[in-house]
Amino acid sequence: MRDRAQTVIIGAGIVGVSAAYHLGKMGVGDVLVIDQGPLFATGGSTSHAPGIVFQINGSRTMCRLAQDSVAVYDGIDLNGERCWYGHGGLEVATTPERMEELRRRQGYARSYGIDGTELLTPAEAAARSPLLDPRSILGALWVPSDGAAKAVKIVTRLAREAEAQGVAFEGGVTVTGFDTEGGRVRAVETDHGRVECERVLICAGFWGPTVGALAGVPIPLVAIQHQLVWTDPVTELGSLQGDTWMQQPVVRHPDLSLYFRQREDHFGVGNYRHEPVVTPQARIRRPGDGPMPSLMPWIPEDFDECESEAARLFPALAGSMRPSDPSRSLNGMFSFTPDGGSVVGESASVRGVWVCEAVWVTHAAGMARQVVEWMVEGEPSYDLAEADANRFYPFQTSAPYVIERGKRQYREVYDIIHPLQQPTEPRNLRLTPFFARHQALGAEFVTGAGWERPQWFRTNRPSVKGVTHGWARRSGWAARGWSPEVGAEHLATRSHAALFDITPFAKFDVAGPDALAFLERIFANRIDRPVGSIVYSSALTPNGGIRLDLTVTRKDEELFRVVTGGGSGQHDLAWIRAQVRDGERVRITERTGSLFALGLWGPRARDVLAQVTDADVSDEAFPYLTARYVNVGEVSPVWAQRISYAGELGWELYGQFAMGDRIWDLLWRAGREHGLVAAGGGAFDSLRLEKGYRLWGQDIHTEHDPLEAGLGFAVRWDKDFQGRAALEAIRDAGGPPERLACLTFDDARTVVMGKEPIWHEGRVVSYVTSAAYGYSVGRGIAYGYLPAGLAVTGTPMEVEYFGVRHAATVSNEPLWDPKGERLKA
Ligand code: FAD
Repeated sequence: MRDRAQTVIIGAGIVGVSAAYHLGKMGVGDVLVIDQGPLFATGGSTSHAPGIVFQINGSRTMCRLAQDSVAVYDGIDLNGERCWYGHGGLEVATTPERMEELRRRQGYARSYGIDGTELLTPAEAAARSPLLDPRSILGALWVPSDGAAKAVKIVTRLAREAEAQGVAFEGGVTVTGFDTEGGRVRAVETDHGRVECERVLICAGFWGPTVGALAGVPIPLVAIQHQLVWTDPVTELGSLQGDTWMQQPVVRHPDLSLYFRQREDHFGVGNYRHEPVVTPQARIRRPGDGPMPSLMPWIPEDFDECESEAARLFPALAGSMRPSDPSRSLNGMFSFTPDGGSVVGESASVRGVWVCEAVWVTHAAGMARQVVEWMVEGEPSYDLAEADANRFYPFQTSAPYVIERGKRQYREVYDIIHPLQQPTEPRNLRLTPFFARHQALGAEFVTGAGWERPQWFRTNRPSVKGVTHGWARRSGWAARGWSPEVGAEHLATRSHAALFDITPFAKFDVAGPDALAFLERIFANRIDRPVGSIVYSSALTPNGGIRLDLTVTRKDEELFRVVTGGGSGQHDLAWIRAQVRDGERVRITERTGSLFALGLWGPRARDVLAQVTDADVSDEAFPYLTARYVNVGEVSPVWAQRISYAGELGWELYGQFAMGDRIWDLLWRAGREHGLVAAGGGAFDSLRLEKGYRLWGQDIHTEHDPLEAGLGFAVRWDKDFQGRAALEAIRDAGGPPERLACLTFDDARTVVMGKEPIWHEGRVVSYVTSAAYGYSVGRGIAYGYLPAGLAVTGTPMEVEYFGVRHAATVSNEPLWDPKGERLKA
């Protein structure tokens, strides 16, 4: 075996080999792929996956990765043997609710570029899948480009291609450790010796946590067992001619968590309909001691219900399932993460250690290309924030959390998930100091980044009484996770004042003699401003995409407070840390867990604050976008930043976590005479969208630059910053071809949720990045990127929601207070 390679890939399953293939294609052939098992039926998950690919996904990134993977698999052969069968996919519905869900999924397909989908009647579905009993379903969604892959054969072929580019493969070699120095990997230790390298890519499937631990890199996933039965030969399939490996579509029956595929003269039936069975890392076997390590003993009772339901859908399968026969059934394992996303990217703790984990066959070739681009070119072409290996807070990598949430992901594989649906466990992990006050006010809690956050307060219900606006009543999908109190809290913020608990915002202090130069380099806006200045800025990728979007406040000459969203906190922190160069005198300290944060916003916010502070909070003494220490009663010091995500006069107030109760009570008492209410996340989201504030991860991310996102005002061309050259090129070429635009619905009752397709003159031109109801403007709002020629005020559009197209119009934005007068009052 070689004792040196620029890149070592651990794992020769479909992910590791796809990465080797893409590296080879990019001309990076100094690569060694190591696997503990025999090549290429290694004994990992890939070795026995039925290879089914359903591409539609609520995540735009995952949906495109599936399409990219199909593009790689399609046309691959091994010694003339075909490896991809794109005979289409059917998702069937047996309940009216599922039929609605299929309409929504067809919307995703249109939003994200999957062509040719159709909603079928039962008879039409049975015409495409001849053994399907049309009486057993209400309808189906047809995706013509879905299909199934011969996963191991694809791996073998991709490995050959990689070998032709110089990539080496070694089977029967186990990685036993890593040699790291100064926080950087130097070599991989194996049972066949040491391999020096510059970087390692861990593609160890469900062994990931064990391999990651050898390098000190947490990989939060859990191995869960999953059943698959191959039926006996079915008479009706006996007459198939030609290449019989697959001639019929793959079928998913999500209402009972089953899937089906024809293979030669029999069917495969996969089953998620059982309690998740976790295999702890310590109990996972090594190759060589018994059957393939990814196979576990069959659990008969988990299959019982599945058998009868499978036969109801496909009567020809009745009596053909003999799961107790080990040659016809398997209980395999694959990876589930706490949020269902993959785990991809370079570790923030050990440089040079890369990870590409928890990836299905469906996404493997596509995801592998992204991670390889990231390794070699410095950035992937897709935004991978939802898969970022550094997105997890430390508690989210703890075993109990990973197991509980991983099991939930397994249970919900086929569930209809509302975007605001909340997990029941584990809850109450991170509580802000205002939690008890929120409970007393009847908060409806949602959880994000482990925090319990109020979405609205039931005590605000009385202010809804008498409201005659159409928005006071909602039905269907948009009514879930919503209550009219959201509208009442929004309007109270605009008319009087509201207290928002923004403690979950992530906060870091960046300090040191080189802090200013460092921040000036990584952010596109001017950071060098007087002490007490607040700067809104993005940090850019080398291609000019928006990597971060946050505020930086100068607390002192060499001390800066960075505030960003709670959901992106770990991602942002890891990225900022990674930008510090050797020798740069910069200290970065996480402050999120030690500081409370409140948003006091609304036209009466000054009246409320003035009543409890000795500080002069007049506009002259404390202007917009400035910050300073004040007291709030005896709560001191309180760091007050005059800025508002609601687009109103007001302050963000930061102080010692332990004094949270006190400041809440003081503000609450002072606020009553000014109409102060407590307000939650529902109001927050609609206030921000009326004001046109972009949400990172939805409206803006690495695939969009500040110019197309309408954030050019926060770019300073009179300084140098990362990504400047690319942004300059876009600017000088006449500006970006697309623009983020604001649509309002023509019918004041229409409200959508986000991700829906946007139509213009009979074709889909984009999708909705953010949506909410604007209670002050009396209209549903949707944002989306439009071709520059269409992003013109007054252009008619349509937004498809559950199969119905709703008229909308491109509007001037922001809809609320376009001159920003209320902020500066
Ligand atoms: P693996 O294929 O498990 O490869 C990881 C490799 O790492 C292994 O070969 C292992 O030997 C090696 N390794 C681990 N530790 C070490 C070490 N210390 N030293 C050296 N080598 C090491 N997905 C779909 O998209 N469609 C499906 O229809 C589908 N059906 C499935 C059905 C079943 C029953 C199962 C179990 C999974 C299914 N999946 C399906 C999931 C899919 O199979 C996996 O997500 C995918 O194969 C994972 O690929 P991988 O390369 O990451 O992991």
